[in-house]
Amino acid sequence: MRKTEFIDREGNAIDMIQAEFAMKIDDLVGDARRIAITGHTRPDGDCTGACLGLRRYLLDLDPSLTVDVYLEPVPAAYDMLEGFETVCLYTEGEYELCFVLDVSSRERLGKNATLLDHVSRVVCIDHHATSEGLGGQDFVVPEAAAACELLYDIMNKEHISLETAECLYLGIIHDTNVFKNSNTTRHTMEVAGALMAKGVNQTRIINDSFYVKTYLQNQLLGMALMKSLIFCDGRCIVSVISRKTMDFYQATHADLDGIVEQLRVTKGVECAIFLTELQFRQYKVSMRSNEAVDVSQVAAYFGGGGHVRAAGCTMEGSFYDVVNNLSEQIVKQLDEE
Ligand code: AMP
Ligand code: MN
Ligand code: MN
Repeated sequence: MRKTEFIDREGNAIDMIQAEFAMKIDDLVGDARRIAITGHTRPDGDCTGACLGLRRYLLDLDPSLTVDVYLEPVPAAYDMLEGFETVCLYTEGEYELCFVLDVSSRERLGKNATLLDHVSRVVCIDHHATSEGLGGQDFVVPEAAAACELLYDIMNKEHISLETAECLYLGIIHDTNVFKNSNTTRHTMEVAGALMAKGVNQTRIINDSFYVKTYLQNQLLGMALMKSLIFCDGRCIVSVISRKTMDFYQATHADLDGIVEQLRVTKGVECAIFLTELQFRQYKVSMRSNEAVDVSQVAAYFGGGGHVRAAGCTMEGSFYDVVNNLSEQIVKQLDEE
């Protein structure tokens, strides 16, 4: 039995993962020749970096493999990643193996879920504490800051090219908010350091994929901040962008990146909620918390999931219904404090 060692925040070596997870990507591929890779709906940096990083890694391992990445439209901010232009939505094709990254529920695969019906074997690599797995080979390690960190751990380090390293680095900075979220461990930093040693231009990736905003993104951010409401004595904040606004500005979901994070850093706020109206009486809910609230519990209560400090779900009803229902669950936790 091979073991993979991780290092906790205090620097102690810990074995966080099951023996079976100590398998390496190279073994997981086996004799598959046609491989598909997919991730969750509205792909973020971690999901995109993981999918494209694994694609490049597998093609470097054996250029004769077929490796196709299926994702919903990827934000243009990640266009520096190798293989960005190859990503498409799944329509048809048979594969021997499908990697499902940064997600482990069929529902969160959106339209790409049908891919699973045309594949012989599914390997899921994820780090969401609320994950239930897909019933194939499921490797879920909630302690990992990002799916990209987890992928690095099971890749053969010698075979990681600069292009793969850039993908994984981008994923890690997005899920840790540039190494400042509480999910960032010593191990996360060590992985990032090892990726830098591959030649990753971290300044360019951090600026271009994370901090640079389009004029439209800044306008929407300003609008969301202006319209935000605080409640629970200033411990919670909520804002919303309506369908009408999205349509008027021809905005996509990626144009709203970073809004909930800005709400979270409002002084005194424990829990930030950002709602995006998907359609009439249906909202995508994004939550972030500082210390007092486990938002993954709140999201899971409403059928979603995520992490302790960042989670989400989809809810039905008017804006006020949704906020009332969410705040009831949040207040329960604040009262227990
Ligand atoms: P977001 O607010 O969309 O950035 O999502 C924050 C975290 O919660 C991410 O790790 C997501 O993968 C997770 N998440 C968001 N929406 C859902 C959902 N409907 N079901 C499960 N997990 C979700
Ligand atoms: Mn993600
Ligand atoms: Mn992730």
